Amino acid sequence: MILRRDNIKRLVELVTSTGGVFVAPVVDTRQVVYRAIGSGEEIELNYILPRNSFKEFLFPQTEVIARFSMNKGGVDLENMDITPPDTVIFGARPCDTASLPSMRAVFTWDYIDEFYTRREERITVISIGCTQGDDDCFCTTVGLSPESRKGADIYLLETEQGDFVVESVTDRGRDFIQRYEEVFEQRGDVKTKALFMPERIDGIDVERIKGWLSKKENYQSPLWAELARKCIGCGACTFTCPTCHCFDIMDEAGLLEGERRKNWDSCQFDFFTLHASGHNPRDTQFKRWRNRFMCKFNFYPNKFSSRGCVGCGRCIRVCPVRLDITEVMEGISKEQ
Ligand code: SF4
Ligand code: SF4
Repeated sequence: MILRRDNIKRLVELVTSTGGVFVAPVVDTRQVVYRAIGSGEEIELNYILPRNSFKEFLFPQTEVIARFSMNKGGVDLENMDITPPDTVIFGARPCDTASLPSMRAVFTWDYIDEFYTRREERITVISIGCTQGDDDCFCTTVGLSPESRKGADIYLLETEQGDFVVESVTDRGRDFIQRYEEVFEQRGDVKTKALFMPERIDGIDVERIKGWLSKKENYQSPLWAELARKCIGCGACTFTCPTCHCFDIMDEAGLLEGERRKNWDSCQFDFFTLHASGHNPRDTQFKRWRNRFMCKFNFYPNKFSSRGCVGCGRCIRVCPVRLDITEVMEGISKEQ
């Protein structure tokens, strides 16, 4: 099938006119970001990777999970019942879509987090293979590529004419194409653009990294301080990362009523692991950075058989001190 560029506007109209949410890359203050849109005119198709990941449409930065109020008889508690709208994520990059199985794994591991799963059950993810990239993209080094369909329901490839060859990947994708059949056409003889393949970083071996991280004695290696000393703990890497998922539950309340919120949090903050006793098991910044790296290349693959890093490069682009995760991966790959 083919999706003509001109028909994307109609697709947005069809989805939003029935109460659906259409998320796509748009230019916002000179940066491309994923955002919910009201019109196809807003979509930007000339982009490498949006500044944010689309995780915020499944796992909002902040959301109310309960409300409470006190009265003479006691406390009234109202749990929030979420009924998310059908949501289309259009123009997702393959690295971002590959984060979905990792996110699902953590949100359904020892407890089913319905705030996440109910949203995920209502999304249709339409990815576009990358025809451009930059020096910070390294998906091929972590076993992915712009050809990856992981996490996508529909995969698009841009043609030389600027239209898109459409491939349904899941049943949800097939249903979507059937439901909006008026915007899809039979494929004729078209040539697709070449994909941008980031060069695999030679000095990095993710299996070797996992092996090194799994050895208990390496947890105390002086290498951590050496590699991660410059981190200032701003948390930017975790907020932009498509697989970082830590959150905190906080009560925001007045004297008699309030709400319980689920807010994004970051393992890079010094109070993230602060105990009530005052003890902090991650009392220096490199230990906090070690935790993030361990989570992605050791804890995740051991617990969920998926990696916590999809090689999008966002953490490299946003880091104010340019702490480059691939340099750490290279450093550890050299170790025995
Ligand atoms: S750790 Fe960095 S490169 Fe890996 S998925 Fe997260 S933001 Fe992207
Ligand atoms: S963005 Fe850089 S400085 Fe900020 S917490 Fe992450 S690694 Fe540290």
